[in-house]
Amino acid sequence: MSHQPDPPRLRAGSPLVDVPPAPSRCRAVKTDGAQCELTTALSAEGFCLWHDPLRTPEAQAARARGNLQGNASPTRGKAGSYRTVPDAEMPPLEDMDHAVAASAWVFRMTGNGTIDPVTSRELNRSIGTFKDALSKRDLLRRIRELERQLKAYATARR
Ligand SMILES: [Zn+2]
Repeated sequence: MSHQPDPPRLRAGSPLVDVPPAPSRCRAVKTDGAQCELTTALSAEGFCLWHDPLRTPEAQAARARGNLQGNASPTRGKAGSYRTVPDAEMPPLEDMDHAVAASAWVFRMTGNGTIDPVTSRELNRSIGTFKDALSKRDLLRRIRELERQLKAYATARR
């Protein structure tokens, strides 16, 4: 025989239960019909933070901080899952030949698993952006040079 009183819902009306024991588990029933399993930070009414109607703003703030409900996996910093290489081992990227070499380097490092696919994708995107910027810059230089020559030619014809 236990000396502890049973939860009030089981002993409703029992004269042995003077003071209801503090709830040990959230009373809320989830959408799937199961009772909420959380046992921490229960209110006096027996609701966890997520199910307490009086603490909705608090719960929203916690959710916004990435503190997810129930057994959903918490948002973890992803830095640990990135496979990168030390800065000293990165190939240079200053001209078009470098861009070609860097593409080949990313291909190899991704293939042998040194860098992860996400990092690989970002590096390829960066190389592409660099290549496009370089092409545009060189094109503008050529246009400017042609304009200068055209002007000189027109001046000489007068
Ligand atoms: Zn709950």
